[in-house]
Amino acid sequence: MKSYDAVVIGGGPAGMTAALYLLRAGVKTAMIEKLAPGGQVLMTSEIENYPGFPKGLQGWELADKFANHLEDYDLHRINDEVREIKVGSPIHTIVVGDEEIEAKTVVLATGSRYRKLGVPGEERLLGRGVSYCALCDGNFFRGRDVAVIGGGNSALEEALYLARLVNKVYLVHRRQEFRGHRCYQNKCFTHEKIEVIRNKVVEEIVGESDVEALALRDVASGEQSQIKLDGVFVFVGFEPIMDFVPKAIEMVPNGVVTDVEMCTNVPGIFAAGDIRAKQCRQVASAVGDGATAATSAFSYLEKLD
Ligand SMILES: Cc1cc2nc3c(=O)[nH]c(=O)nc-3n(C[C@H](O)[C@H](O)[C@H](O)COP(=O)(O)OP(=O)(O)OC[C@H]3O[C@@H](n4cnc5c(N)ncnc54)[C@H](O)[C@@H]3O)c2cc1C
Repeated sequence: MKSYDAVVIGGGPAGMTAALYLLRAGVKTAMIEKLAPGGQVLMTSEIENYPGFPKGLQGWELADKFANHLEDYDLHRINDEVREIKVGSPIHTIVVGDEEIEAKTVVLATGSRYRKLGVPGEERLLGRGVSYCALCDGNFFRGRDVAVIGGGNSALEEALYLARLVNKVYLVHRRQEFRGHRCYQNKCFTHEKIEVIRNKVVEEIVGESDVEALALRDVASGEQSQIKLDGVFVFVGFEPIMDFVPKAIEMVPNGVVTDVEMCTNVPGIFAAGDIRAKQCRQVASAVGDGATAATSAFSYLEKLD
């Protein structure tokens, strides 16, 4: 059985930062990532709020920079999905693919995935006009009409990205006030291709074989309406990826519970980034969590020896 001092699960900003700090401290480290390193950053069109890049940069560029930074270190990369963690004392066992590996410390950094609207038509028309990734699918809607559903930063940012490609973006929010940052709100509200629709909930995504329309209901009056369009991009929040996290680790619906040093309630297991129960789900906070988790894991290993 392979055995490591530290195993980082997830290769997004939090996981890659944790791995970097552990490797620089001389810790024998493996990083397990089921897809390509980068995480949600690879799904992000442009990142304007990561310090050091005042002109912004493409998500894939930032992901590349993070990944390249690890190149000079002896990181053991495992490209597979973690299915289970067996909590031990002091050695934990991680089930990845068909293999089991041992770790003295584990950093959980599997991030979060998009939340679904849960309305009729959403599942059936996925990939036929329904999407959760503007960067991946926006190009298919060049010159056509789409809706973006949501009121947070992701919805606003992705509405702006789509407005560069499509004919028209309906930005649909169930409330009057948007949660996204004022700078994105200002850009959206003044954009000639973006029409803002407030206080309406989506009742159904309508279409036979492809998306044809969006059925809405006004939250105050109950009045129903339909918009004809070709695509619907859903950005109504994210939920932490915790399917494989054992019950011994304290979790709430919003994520894995940690203290300020990123320690979970189980000795030797730490969590960083979007998987944590926290409010700010951003690259900068994921990176900070990753550095803190690695520092805590290193201190824990020193006490074990
Ligand atoms: C559309 C969009 C726009 C955004 N815009 C911005 C922005 O402008 N600025 C900003 O700061 N933030 C932005 N964010 C948020 C930011 O990308 C996240 O907060 C950040 O990526 C979280 O990092 P993370 O490492 O915690 O998780 P993630 O980036 O989610 O990475 C987790 C990784 O774990 C892997 N993984 C999951 N489960 C397993 C498993 N069982 N086994 C192995 N690997 C697994 C995943 O494949 C993934 O690569 C945006 C997000 C989205 C989706």
